[in-house]
Amino acid sequence: MSHPPVALATYPTPVEPAPRLATALGLGPEDLWVKRDDLTGLGGGGNKVRKLEWTVGAALAEGADTLVTTGAPQSNHARLTAAAGARLGLDVVLVLRGSAGASGSGNLALDGLLGARLSWAGEVDQAGLDAAADAVRVRLRAAGSRPALIPFGGSSVLGARGYVRCGAELREQVPDLRTAVVALGSGGTMAGLVAALGPGSVLGVDVGALTDPARAVVRFAAPHTAEPLRAEGLRVRRDQVGAGYATLTGPVSEALRLAARTEGLVLDPTYTGRALAGLRAAVADGTVRPGGKTVFVHTGGLPGLFGHRDAVAFAEEGAGTFPE
Ligand SMILES: *Cc1c(COP(=O)(O)O)cnc(C)c1O
Repeated sequence: MSHPPVALATYPTPVEPAPRLATALGLGPEDLWVKRDDLTGLGGGGNKVRKLEWTVGAALAEGADTLVTTGAPQSNHARLTAAAGARLGLDVVLVLRGSAGASGSGNLALDGLLGARLSWAGEVDQAGLDAAADAVRVRLRAAGSRPALIPFGGSSVLGARGYVRCGAELREQVPDLRTAVVALGSGGTMAGLVAALGPGSVLGVDVGALTDPARAVVRFAAPHTAEPLRAEGLRVRRDQVGAGYATLTGPVSEALRLAARTEGLVLDPTYTGRALAGLRAAVADGTVRPGGKTVFVHTGGLPGLFGHRDAVAFAEEGAGTFPE
């Protein structure tokens, strides 16, 4: 497990003030900061790059020549795995839920541009997706390749190390940080931040990718913490999932517009939009209060906006006309 990480990202990512968004949320103008992990560089950027440094580092140490991973059609992790493969001269096979031809936009357009091969698994659950990835690995091996499986979302005990490092970076940039707010998908990002900053300092906003996301966070974080961790000790909001992972909710639509119009900050409908909607709800119910530093962790995901039909329609509706 002590394989060195491979360098893929640009560090440190900036931390920027967001005074107009802060005020709109009901915080003081100096209470809100944005950690720009959408600017990690590789392949359009985003949080998955930090995790891939470790998981792909391990794959290289094992002598892999092909990366295999799984995801939804608009998976940012799949796109960034394709980018990591391109950067390092490795083949990439993405095992995606659904079937070909549903959409060629957003992340799928970038997957193609980056040269990944796609294997469509049909409408399967997580176990079905994992089984499809295993079948792909068997076929690759039979053809003489040396495939390595990168876990779903890049999340594992090893992948979480990328966010332990990010948490340390953030602590240096904002020493008086009170709460870091982050979208919670496959769990590795929150896990690393919890290990670095402590469970009381991280608010995770569930996006609906897993049935028990808090358990995943504990599993990925525990080996990195001295203190024992319990799921009940984590701060997790599950009120922003709406009708499911792929749907655009009213609060998320409002959050997308608010960030864009107060700070010129573009969020995505699946992850960062939910994280901001969750922060807004947390300020409204008093679990995040003015008078301390809140850091919104911008984890990327912009291509996903262009791969989400309802989000694109909502975004376009917002334009005014001139003259009226
Ligand atoms: C995957 C993802 C997340 C969630 O990270 P996990 O480590 O899977 O919990 C947040 N934001 C964006 C844009 C993502 O792509």
